Amino acid sequence: MGAGIVLSGELFRGAGGTAGEIGHIALDPRGPVCRCGNRGCLETFVGASYLLDMLPQNSEVNRGPGGARVSDIVAAALTGDPGCRRVVAEAGSALGQGMAIVANLFNPDRITLGGGLAEAGDLLLEPMRRAMEFGSLGSALRDLILVSGSLGRDASLYGALWTASRVAR
Ligand SMILES: [Zn+2]
Repeated sequence: MGAGIVLSGELFRGAGGTAGEIGHIALDPRGPVCRCGNRGCLETFVGASYLLDMLPQNSEVNRGPGGARVSDIVAAALTGDPGCRRVVAEAGSALGQGMAIVANLFNPDRITLGGGLAEAGDLLLEPMRRAMEFGSLGSALRDLILVSGSLGRDASLYGALWTASRVAR
């Protein structure tokens, strides 16, 4: 999980090119161990295995062949499954906790979410915005537009092409 931080129209890379690693914002020092070796990173609370483990064993979503994927949770949430709505909302809250820190630092005018979870739309965005309101200065959110992206699975491809086109100039 990562972010492209665009400042004044330019992608912000940081000193060593690792800027935007928002997945490793530490939310809970007693949380699950992350692949980076720290605990409670944002991506541990929005990753597929964590979200799928939240579902009850008797969930309709777990019954398919080969088990469930995040897209199954999102699809069930959109059709009204209360357990899946809860899972999506908790992911939104975790994202909001992390993005509140980003908002305090950068006062962004837009946050665009990509990836499978973003397809949940307001089911994800509303709890995310609420968590951001709790975790940031009100003025940091005043001009913020929070949306799901429209590029779907191709978002990272378009991002890579855009970045390459800038470097080639
Ligand atoms: Zn981590």
